[in-house]
Amino acid sequence: MKQGELLYSGKAKSVYLTDEDDVLLVKFRDDITAFDGGKKEVLSEKGAFNARVSEYLFRYLERHHVKTHLIGMMDRSTMLVRRLEMIPLEVIVRNVAAGSMARNYPIKEGTPLDPPVIVIDLKDDARHDPMLNDDLIFALGLSTPEELATIKREALRVNSVLAALFDSLGITLVDFKIEFGRGKDGVYLGDEISMDSMRLWDKKTGESLDKDVFRFGKGDVMEVYRRVSERILS
Ligand code: 5GP
Repeated sequence: MKQGELLYSGKAKSVYLTDEDDVLLVKFRDDITAFDGGKKEVLSEKGAFNARVSEYLFRYLERHHVKTHLIGMMDRSTMLVRRLEMIPLEVIVRNVAAGSMARNYPIKEGTPLDPPVIVIDLKDDARHDPMLNDDLIFALGLSTPEELATIKREALRVNSVLAALFDSLGITLVDFKIEFGRGKDGVYLGDEISMDSMRLWDKKTGESLDKDVFRFGKGDVMEVYRRVSERILS
């Protein structure tokens, strides 16, 4: 498989064409950003940790019958993926109130949410990812009602599979963000699932094991990413 032209470069990943039409390369870079790119750093090895955790979680989800874009790994920080037409929605599933939910609504951080809450934002940094509802999604032509129903159903399935996995590791899956895309035979889970896109709390200590360590300067980000990767991959 040969790396081709750069197709897209995001805040922490770059996507390249390959010599096969339906296959792309996703390179997880060492850049870390928060607050719509307002805070930035480069952390050696961060890309490889997130790539390895994403690979592991995608394979785990495939075994639980969730269709993902993962094909395989090219190297430690580069994923081979099925080419999708990405849907510009950030699908967030919350099991515990935290982050923007606790900031923007009258609910205390740490309040359990049962059933889980799905929030869908428009993926648009320039507009600060505004929250959508079903009517807005249809009015903006972002998806059909049938496709949105599939997206929500799959997001909840991803949540129940991963929440149980993290629970067995002594970790609470507080919330996470995923993205979907259209493949030849329906909707696939795309993008990544990593410490950059999940909120994880140690069940015993309540310690943050995710990008909040970087967002809020809570400690040594790479030490935490290394430790949580070991727990996930063990
Ligand atoms: P919040 O809305 O509380 O900021 O984020 C909820 C969850 O979605 C958190 O786990 C957070 O990491 C993830 N999330 C929200 N927006 C983004 C984003 O633009 N990029 C990434 N990587 N994760 C996001």
